[in-house]
Amino acid sequence: MYFEFSRYQYKGKTTHMAVTQFQPVYARRCFPCWDEPAFKAKFKITLEVSSEMVALSNMPISSETVGGSMRIIHFEESPLMSTYLVAMVVGIFDFVEDVASKGTKVCVYTEVGKSSQGKFALDVGVKSLDFYNDYFGTPYALAKLDMISIPEFNWMGMENYGLITFHPTVFLFDGPSTTSTKLQEIAVLVAHELAHQWCGNLVTMEWWNHLWLNEGFATWMSYQAVDSFFPKWNILLDFLENTMSTLKLDSIAGSHPIEVEIHHINEIDRIFDDIIYIKGASILQMIQSYIGAEHFQKALKKYIQKYAYSNAKTEDLWVVLEEETGEPFKDFMSTWTKQPGYPIINIKHKGKGIQVEQAQFVLDGSSRAGLWDVPITLRCSSSTNKFILKHKHDNFDVCGERERGGNIWIKLNINETGFYRVKYDKEIKTRLQNALEANEFSSMEKIGILENSLMLSISREDTLASLLCIVYACREVADYSVLTHTSCMYILVFQIVQFYLFSKF
Ligand SMILES: [Zn+2]
Repeated sequence: MYFEFSRYQYKGKTTHMAVTQFQPVYARRCFPCWDEPAFKAKFKITLEVSSEMVALSNMPISSETVGGSMRIIHFEESPLMSTYLVAMVVGIFDFVEDVASKGTKVCVYTEVGKSSQGKFALDVGVKSLDFYNDYFGTPYALAKLDMISIPEFNWMGMENYGLITFHPTVFLFDGPSTTSTKLQEIAVLVAHELAHQWCGNLVTMEWWNHLWLNEGFATWMSYQAVDSFFPKWNILLDFLENTMSTLKLDSIAGSHPIEVEIHHINEIDRIFDDIIYIKGASILQMIQSYIGAEHFQKALKKYIQKYAYSNAKTEDLWVVLEEETGEPFKDFMSTWTKQPGYPIINIKHKGKGIQVEQAQFVLDGSSRAGLWDVPITLRCSSSTNKFILKHKHDNFDVCGERERGGNIWIKLNINETGFYRVKYDKEIKTRLQNALEANEFSSMEKIGILENSLMLSISREDTLASLLCIVYACREVADYSVLTHTSCMYILVFQIVQFYLFSKF
């Protein structure tokens, strides 16, 4: 039985609460079951606890009887759900509560005396429920949603259906001593666990191979939600920073595909990493950017409706996207989920259009043979274009002869939403530098151009001089987010200079 006893303070004494954590395969230790995500069942839970204790589970209490110092608490029957999402918590708590716009009661439980620290998470929880109800078009399935702070918890958060457990350091708002970074961390984590109530709990991955369907989705959705609640935070810049660090991770030997074959339950714990969470989220971002936010949301609504109270595989998502857009998602997205790494796109002018070529980007400059169907977005100064690169190289009739005159510039990867790097030929690069100096790009794009150039220099795909020209073109930038990114780069630039000098002598 997988109950943990978490210590906490009550009336000046150390006492214990009982809390479950069944993901990925520990429900079988608590009750006999087919403990795999695809075996969904309805659960009716009964707990016998001492009468001063609060007992929580996935569902609201249906009835209780008191006998002496003990209470027997019956919870309502749950909808169909996977075993790893069943949860129980017993202890003495304070709480704050609110009601979401569709009537769902939302409660935040904390240690006694700390309930005011849960108000920010409560606010984000209510906002998230409203946001996802609207986004997915399928209302939250349960009558209540509890979130609880668990001291001595081994996880940051766990999305148990209707009873989400959190580590207090990333859940409680400690008044003026809480930094804005901490507030953002709390908001993103709460929005992440709330997104799981749809992506993971209502529609569950069929098997752990498809874990990214849970985690990539919840990660991507959480940033969309928090960006809509707190637009001044520019939280999508944080998402970009996460994407960029995952691009580094995924360009070294030993990376793995988003879909990882799981043959034994002992392998499951090892796959909860940034490839599953951040690369998974980033390719969703890439798809949304390519097909448009409206089409993407429409497809997700259908996906959630079609697989509600059931399970889905990665291919099921692509089929829904294919039906919505007419694009062959099943073929081209498997190149992103079934192989590690990603491409570098080489671009140069050819005739009246451009020639685009792909190769696998590897940070140590070695050669690998990966090939992707790459959804490419690009801007030719004020006009935008998009196409899918399906082969090693191809020609596209964009940014033609007429547009090549004057000061027209080309930039691939609009708003840095594509999971690839770009290498421009000399002429295009010079125009890009001029456009940088003329302040033509958003903060996100400036950061992306700088990072892209840095990584090309480290991998020796491009020269250090080229990187320095890009940095020089940003010399007038006064944007805090770009400058903080650039200052981190300087250290790396010095390291690269050293590396080049040592190589020379
Ligand atoms: Zn998650």
